[in-house]
Amino acid sequence: MLTNKTITAVATPPGVGAVAIIRISGEKTIDIINKIFTRQKSQKSPMLSHKLYYGKITDESNNIIDEVMCVLMRAPRSYTCEDTAEIHCHGGIATVAAVLDIVLKNGANLAEPGEFTKRAFLNGRIDLSQAEAVMELISAKNQLARRATLRKLAGGLSQKVKSARQQILSWLANIELSIDYPEHEEEAENLATIQQECVILLQNLDNLAKTANIGNFIQMGVPTAIIGRPNVGKSSLMNAILQQERAIVTEIAGTTRDTLTESVVVRNIPILLTDTAGIRQNLTDFANLESLEKFANLESLENSQNSKNPENEVDKIDKIEQIGINRTIKSAENAELVLFVLDNSEPPQQEDIAIMQLLNDKKKIIVLNKNDLPPKFSLTDLTSLSNLSTLNNVENVPTVKISAKTGEGLNELYSTIESLFFGGKISVDDDIITKERDKLLLQQAISHIKQAQQEISASVPEDIISISLRAAYVALGEILGEVVADDIVDRIFAEFCVGK
Ligand code: GDP
Repeated sequence: MLTNKTITAVATPPGVGAVAIIRISGEKTIDIINKIFTRQKSQKSPMLSHKLYYGKITDESNNIIDEVMCVLMRAPRSYTCEDTAEIHCHGGIATVAAVLDIVLKNGANLAEPGEFTKRAFLNGRIDLSQAEAVMELISAKNQLARRATLRKLAGGLSQKVKSARQQILSWLANIELSIDYPEHEEEAENLATIQQECVILLQNLDNLAKTANIGNFIQMGVPTAIIGRPNVGKSSLMNAILQQERAIVTEIAGTTRDTLTESVVVRNIPILLTDTAGIRQNLTDFANLESLEKFANLESLENSQNSKNPENEVDKIDKIEQIGINRTIKSAENAELVLFVLDNSEPPQQEDIAIMQLLNDKKKIIVLNKNDLPPKFSLTDLTSLSNLSTLNNVENVPTVKISAKTGEGLNELYSTIESLFFGGKISVDDDIITKERDKLLLQQAISHIKQAQQEISASVPEDIISISLRAAYVALGEILGEVVADDIVDRIFAEFCVGK
């Protein structure tokens, strides 16, 4: 065991519940339980490990604090690998505080956030990637994230990283051998083999690093903005997706003044959905706009309405709407995906073109709404109206016809999102990178291996090649927590909640 301090914390969430659990871990655990936990008089034998006992928690004057169930998990068969106990007491705030107080008085210290899991890591029960998975599992917001995290906890990612390290280690051993015994003839052959194997390893590591985006989307949802001119049905689409009346739907143009963001999982696809204020802008404002960035400069309008009479209600409403429009532009900038909503029951309008131009570089889906009404819209008209060469690629943008009113076409919309972001099939049966830190370390390892490849091609001395390979080995080791500085370990575990 690396630490002697015995720690304790409430493992259940704060607030009132039927039952609360207080955890204790460390070498004084059994001693503390013996002092504060009294079983029925008939039960004299020592408590067995992993067995739940009924009894009472008492203070130093033998006053009963609470009736509880208590379990001991003797080292090393516990979460932390240390002697551990859990006291299941009644969930009232005062009761929990009183039981915790008795535990503290008898020699335990209050645990820091994540300290139980940190001990599991320090005592070698889990590696860093698995420890992080514990935290991600606690905060998983949807079933996909939970399943991806469970795989990580089971060591899927660790296994891939370990086998990559094993491969690098065998290269290093070969190189060392030929440095120590230069009389061996196979040196050149050795390096050629390493170079070939590098290609395969790089491919594997690259595939793993590429899953980072999927990992992020699975955890947080794909940031998606619903954008379009007023009255095309943005709020209705938001409501249809959320299947509830969250956004206000009206027939008066410009009623969504602010942006609404909701996280939702549809057909297994996690989406962070933002409904935005309708973009309604004087056409002359649009005339010279080339990019989202340029348009965003209109934000200055938020502060430059002084020329108008502040008492004038119409001006005030215009100003509120303008701020909403500026927020829309921000949402579009931050979104990974834009659902560009157009009204299929009306011919294209100048505003549609202006917005299309604005979204030129964004990943988007054209959503032709109100498909329950007779169609009057045509993408060809939209393109020819625009006279802009930049719009020539409109035909290549995925287009889905829907009716937010009847729900028609929504399934096709979800499939389109799925194919844009998850290659047509969300699979968490593969190992997925969910941490930015892991992604950066993988990228570091990749660049060190590439460096080694170049060095082999340039016939540089073998000891230099081995420095690059060693650096890759170390970077991969950091993912597993093998060579991580103490302060980084502290920072990682500080993100945990107390009691875990
Ligand atoms: P927004 O300004 O773009 O957010 O548009 P809203 O969602 O407020 O909708 C504007 C009007 O269009 C409302 O009267 C909606 O009931 C109507 N609407 C929205 N979607 C549809 C649809 O799919 N079919 C029909 N017929 N009307 C719709």
